[in-house]
Amino acid sequence: MQKEIIEAILQSLRTAYPGARSRLYYSNAYELLVAAILSAQTTDEQVNRVTSALFRRYPDPAALAVADPEEVAVCIKSLGLYRMKAAHLVATARVLVEKYDGLVPASLAELLELPGVGRKVANVVLANAFGRDVIAVDTHVFRVANRLGLARAGNVLETEKQLTAILPPGSRGEAHHLLIHHGRAVCRARQPRCQECVVAGYCEHKDRDYSDADHNTCGKASH
Ligand code: SF4
Repeated sequence: MQKEIIEAILQSLRTAYPGARSRLYYSNAYELLVAAILSAQTTDEQVNRVTSALFRRYPDPAALAVADPEEVAVCIKSLGLYRMKAAHLVATARVLVEKYDGLVPASLAELLELPGVGRKVANVVLANAFGRDVIAVDTHVFRVANRLGLARAGNVLETEKQLTAILPPGSRGEAHHLLIHHGRAVCRARQPRCQECVVAGYCEHKDRDYSDADHNTCGKASH
């Protein structure tokens, strides 16, 4: 895809979603890491409903590291997979305390070693807590990027590689938020609102019937 078209798509999305940013509530890298771990297969709004009380009770990795996972589970019981997530949170906090002096590491390799942290969560933390120029690919980014032709990939990792290669330096974190906002508001999985789409002029999938499509469409997401 030509640079000018990529810039035009980004600019159209910026205009449509000014100030697009994460919907998760957090005030530091630790809170973002916790919220991002909790967000697996759960909406940001559901995560936000539990994190204020969770952060009051466990305000830093040291507090969470000595918590009983069963008690953490009670705090996040309204979320899916809450027992597994509670175990991951406590195990991750222990690693932060034992290996990183209670700080969140700022490298992809180190983040990926933390329990409950996959590539998407790691990149969310790197981009939003540390200002790194990386793009986290979730189901919305995967779907919208592949429909628009910004990527032509069958899985999230390949989509991340292709987006990293074509997006202008400095724009990857922003592009993540813009594509998520567009995916939630307009380019929905089964019923995209192509008639309202500000980037329809660049999209070869405009008005395609997605009613019977796989949730992610345009190939199978392997995440
Ligand atoms: S035209 Fe339709 S399919 Fe293409 S990006 Fe817009 S909403 Fe999605």
